Amino acid sequence: MKKPRSRLGQVFLKDRNILDKIVRYSNVQEGEWVLEIGPGRGALTEFLLFKGVNVIAFEIDPSLVSELKRRYGLLLNDRLFLVEEDFLKVDVEKELVERGIQVPIKVVSNIPYYITTPIITKLIETKNLFNEIFLTIQKEVAERIVAKPGTSQYGSLTLYLKMFFDVEILFNIPRTCFRPIPKVDSSFVRFRVREKPPIDVKDTRFLERLIRFSFGGRRKKIKTVLRNNFGKLPFDEIEEASGISLDRRGETLSLEEFERLARAVKNNLKR
Ligand code: SAM
Repeated sequence: MKKPRSRLGQVFLKDRNILDKIVRYSNVQEGEWVLEIGPGRGALTEFLLFKGVNVIAFEIDPSLVSELKRRYGLLLNDRLFLVEEDFLKVDVEKELVERGIQVPIKVVSNIPYYITTPIITKLIETKNLFNEIFLTIQKEVAERIVAKPGTSQYGSLTLYLKMFFDVEILFNIPRTCFRPIPKVDSSFVRFRVREKPPIDVKDTRFLERLIRFSFGGRRKKIKTVLRNNFGKLPFDEIEEASGISLDRRGETLSLEEFERLARAVKNNLKR
């Protein structure tokens, strides 16, 4: 067996109780298809297959793909598809359609942490292919994703994800459950794809810009953020239209409040 490559985020889940819990919480049913990113040595793949689930897995490391192909020869191209590719580079829809897999399906994965944000961004872009996404991610990142306004973990990632997913931390996984033991703990997280954003966003790009500016100048009053980025504005009118005091700081605003503020600022920019 080859030495795990830390460059590729290779830490393997060894705790069978946790693997069993992952499969239970993701509520997979016999006969359904699941997409896995980075099957590694197949710890989770094996539990999914044992449950009667069919798996399409994307693994970048050729030596691990060969190892898995040897082990699962009988199921290959029937209940298990192993795709030797960088998940970030594949056309996911094409890969599913080519194999006759009907969407939407679930994603269940212990992902490589060095590319957590690119993976989540890709899942947002392809969210129409999925109904539920279950990921093991770094605990600190999970806490940032579900953070409430006004806390130190709250940030643009929290707000961005909230537009597309309903996110819940299902349970934590101590670092000692992995080999080699990583430097961080993990959380198992559910992302439910929202049918539509929780707010009525007219101009998503403007909203995103405003959120970015607000978190760029952390601890700055909204008034200052607006003045620095848009110049002189009628603050009283913006306050009245949005119902938000511009003496507040951006990091205390909820997504709904950001949307109200974005609308009021935009209306006053036009004049
Ligand atoms: N799922 C396995 C488990 O729980 O034991 C392995 C998880 S390990 C954290 C992440 C896996 O993702 C590794 O096998 C690694 O080779 C693979 N990987 C890393 N970058 C990848 C990429 N860009 N595309 C697909 N797989 C990748």
